[in-house]
Amino acid sequence: MKKAALFAILLVQILIIVGFWGSYHVHHMMGNQLTGDWIGQSLAWGRLSGLLAAFGILMLLLLISRATWLEGVFGMDRLARAHHIVGFALILLLVIHPILLTLGHSAQAGIGYLAQTRDFVKNWEDVFGAMLGMDLIIIAMGLSVFVVLKKIRYETWYYSHLFLYVAIALAFGHQIAVGSDFTENRYFRIYWFVLYAFVAGVLVYSRFLTPLKYYFRHRFTVTRLVAETNEVTSVCIEGINLDQFPARAGQFMIVRFLAKGFWFEAHPFSISCLPDGKQLRLTIKQLGDFTRKIPGLRSGTPILIDGPHGIFTAAQSHSKKILMIAGGIGITPIRSVAEELISASRNVILIYGNRDTHSLVFKAELDALTAKSDGRLKVIPVMSDDPAWPGEKGRVDRERISRLVPDLSERDVFLCGPPVMMKSARKSLAELNVPSSRIHDERFAL
Ligand SMILES: Cc1cc2nc3c(=O)[nH]c(=O)nc-3n(C[C@H](O)[C@H](O)[C@H](O)COP(=O)(O)OP(=O)(O)OC[C@H]3O[C@@H](n4cnc5c(N)ncnc54)[C@H](O)[C@@H]3O)c2cc1C
Repeated sequence: MKKAALFAILLVQILIIVGFWGSYHVHHMMGNQLTGDWIGQSLAWGRLSGLLAAFGILMLLLLISRATWLEGVFGMDRLARAHHIVGFALILLLVIHPILLTLGHSAQAGIGYLAQTRDFVKNWEDVFGAMLGMDLIIIAMGLSVFVVLKKIRYETWYYSHLFLYVAIALAFGHQIAVGSDFTENRYFRIYWFVLYAFVAGVLVYSRFLTPLKYYFRHRFTVTRLVAETNEVTSVCIEGINLDQFPARAGQFMIVRFLAKGFWFEAHPFSISCLPDGKQLRLTIKQLGDFTRKIPGLRSGTPILIDGPHGIFTAAQSHSKKILMIAGGIGITPIRSVAEELISASRNVILIYGNRDTHSLVFKAELDALTAKSDGRLKVIPVMSDDPAWPGEKGRVDRERISRLVPDLSERDVFLCGPPVMMKSARKSLAELNVPSSRIHDERFAL
């Protein structure tokens, strides 16, 4: 319902933009440009691509704004994926826009393409800035390909993305200075000002003011570190009035530890035990330069928390019976959601895939949860590379799932683990006729 309403609002915005654009070009002082010669058409479509590009940029910002009203409906990982798709579609619009306008204006003025480009740069207000902005946007998008291919550091990509804000300011100036659709129509101009102000407001509120508000309200502090395995450390967090902090089991928080060597990077981690109003816990695997520093954190370190985020919670499913599949460090949100599900009298089977017993996190906690669950929790560890393990050995594949979970058709599934494992688990579940609407997953990638 909320999804449909949000899509309807989006559609209305596109209709407004196309509507204003259409009416301006149909009633153009030089005649209807939508049915006119190729010059008029090229100018008209060039302007539409510019308008849609400006709208796309605002959508990019909204998608990564971390606004709870958006995120609560779609989940942050889906919003992040939509952000990537819109970003790449935007490149097309950003390329088409200047080409069509330069072609149209050069033909109108009877000069060549390059001469027209020179004229734009020299004599048209803010066109040079817009070109610079366009280059910055294309570079930022291009770098995203390299980050996906793991050819550049995540942080390099992240900080290069900050140039997008400069690009947007340049695009805004250009739009207001030379966009005839605006200069000619007061209402359309007001509409765009409202649009920009709305997105800027959501962004500033969600990304900056909310974490600060929570920080001053709760004063989050690291109280204890617990080594779970050689590579995994739990960070216990306490604060003031934590019972009023709206965190749920399975959600994640983007944390910035305010200590030397840590404060300039914020990273997402899932809540790994049921929030009890007194303490929060993150459990972190050492995978890269930031996470390797975690065991060196000191108790008393203040933390800025952006979140809680995510919809990977017990509220995703109302089924009495649940299958949970965790792989490696993907156990963190699964463990906290499992605790909530059991305390709500649901029946849970947890298949927990790991390399070997040394990498098994929360063994003692899961045993304790099983013992107090009155048979409602069954944990089945599966080791992919541990010949001495007496239990299930190998991968979490189709055969194993159907053998270990005979009542699979009655269960909703919660899934979290490394990307390869999640992909193959999804495939197995699909082959076992579990509809995707019954599979809830959390990807450790934004
Ligand atoms: C929703 C979510 C929940 C997560 N929960 C946990 C958890 O409970 N426990 C755990 O150990 N790990 C969790 N992660 C993964 C964790 O965020 C990364 O392992 C960590 O950020 C890696 O940082 P690094 O600098 O040590 O490693 P790097 O080698 O720099 O990064 C490894 C990969 O982690 C991702 N990454 C790096 N920095 C960031 C960042 N600032 N923001 C987003 N992604 C980044 C990138 O995909 C990168 O390729 C979660 C990730 C997400 C998205």
